[in-house]
Amino acid sequence: MTDDALLARTKDLVREETRVTTEIPHHLREIESRKLFCALGFSSPFEYAVKELGYSESAALLRIDSMRLLKELPHVEAQIQSLEGKSSRESDRALLALSPEPEKHRPESVRPVSSELSEVRFLASDELLKDLEKLKGLLAHKYPDMNFSDLISYLSKAALKDLDPAQRQVRDKCSPIASEVKPATRPDGVRQAIPAEVQRQVWQRDGSRCTFIHPETGRRCESRFRLQIDHIIPVKLKGSNDLSNLRILCREHNAWEAARVYGISKIRPFWVKRS
Ligand SMILES: [Zn+2]
Repeated sequence: MTDDALLARTKDLVREETRVTTEIPHHLREIESRKLFCALGFSSPFEYAVKELGYSESAALLRIDSMRLLKELPHVEAQIQSLEGKSSRESDRALLALSPEPEKHRPESVRPVSSELSEVRFLASDELLKDLEKLKGLLAHKYPDMNFSDLISYLSKAALKDLDPAQRQVRDKCSPIASEVKPATRPDGVRQAIPAEVQRQVWQRDGSRCTFIHPETGRRCESRFRLQIDHIIPVKLKGSNDLSNLRILCREHNAWEAARVYGISKIRPFWVKRS
């Protein structure tokens, strides 16, 4: 390759790099609106970008940021077109700079720093900081050297005792035992609530985590966010409130399963944007 050809080729490659960089957020946006990450067993486009596409967390964040910007600020689209000819790093920066409050668009992040420790990044309001300092003060007699991490760990344990369905004590001693098969609807068609003890056992058995498994890859969804108890055979199709008919799903996979069971056409208008 001659010097001139080398220089020209490099310029072409950089132009191509920029084109690809600005096109990827559009594709991610479409993948999000079609919920394709869900079909693959991921609970978010970010998780998909890291685990399936192989981006580093920071690279994935930047692309998801850009994707959200496109969604929230449609006028950004025209400005993105003007990024042609800039290097990919410059266009990344320019994408972020288009946001009136770039910090707001940066998702909270968790970055592993050792096999057992992670650095967590999030924005705290003045009010939250004041409350945390106040709590540190109140706990100081018992835990004089508490740092933010200790405090959040203390608060999490206290909150989980109350909120984690798998840890919740059954107050009603008369609640039916789990092995008892209970129809989810009475003969007159009225829907019956899942007994508290059965609910607790579902949460415990499924480890308070989404149980969706991708049929081909065998990958289990890792989401612990917005979990719901799902009837495997739906109540409408005479599914029971029995432990074996219940499972934990995240919101995305609950919607995904509903679409599968009832046919995608019924559900589609609510959560899939038509192209
Ligand atoms: Zn899930």
